[in-house]
Amino acid sequence: MAFNLYEIMSGDKKCQVRDCNEESHKTVPADLASKVVSFDSKLTKVHLCKEHYKKYKKGTKKEREVLRSNWD
Ligand SMILES: [Zn+2]
Repeated sequence: MAFNLYEIMSGDKKCQVRDCNEESHKTVPADLASKVVSFDSKLTKVHLCKEHYKKYKKGTKKEREVLRSNWD
């Protein structure tokens, strides 16, 4: 899809957490991220800056471990 391709190529994505204006570091699933940070609820994936990604990793450790053990 051209629209998605443009998004990837543009390379200037911002963190989508409310009131944050840092550069995007990682994209994470919105349902997990919503447990830790606030953002536009219509998103399915959310861009996070380094700091918010750290927060996300800490805050969703349990959930992500559950997911992993289900796959094993
Ligand atoms: Zn941020």
